[in-house]
Amino acid sequence: MDNCLFCRIAAGEIPSTKVYEDEQVLAFRDIAPQAPTHVLVIPKKHVSGWYAAKDEDDALLAHLMRTAAAVAKMEGVVESGFRVVSNCGPDAQQTVPHLHLHVLGGKEMGGKMG
Ligand code: 5GP
Ligand code: ZN
Repeated sequence: MDNCLFCRIAAGEIPSTKVYEDEQVLAFRDIAPQAPTHVLVIPKKHVSGWYAAKDEDDALLAHLMRTAAAVAKMEGVVESGFRVVSNCGPDAQQTVPHLHLHVLGGKEMGGKMG
């Protein structure tokens, strides 16, 4: 999608600090990190959110999740622990309408999630 920020990052039109990339997904550092490790994992294909995903996206979504785990390993936060967050819709404060996972770690996080 032409006007989508994360599509433009995936296409390399907007620079990002890349952590991992393959044909299907890109992982890059959040511009406003909320933890020492704060990496966004996105599908390169535009999917606006969880409810926009189709049956044919199942393998992509599984790969997205496993990439989040691989990123946690690369960042060295598997032992200390990490959180994977995906905001969906206005109440959850989703600001970019392109499906993404936040991988957060490197500090002890609060017990509340909402
Ligand atoms: P959301 O609020 O939709 O769950 O997450 C969007 C995330 O994208 C936010 O954490 C925000 O800091 C990050 N973000 C917004 N614009 C950019 C950008 O241009 N580059 C990078 N690397 N992250 C961005
Ligand atoms: Zn997009």
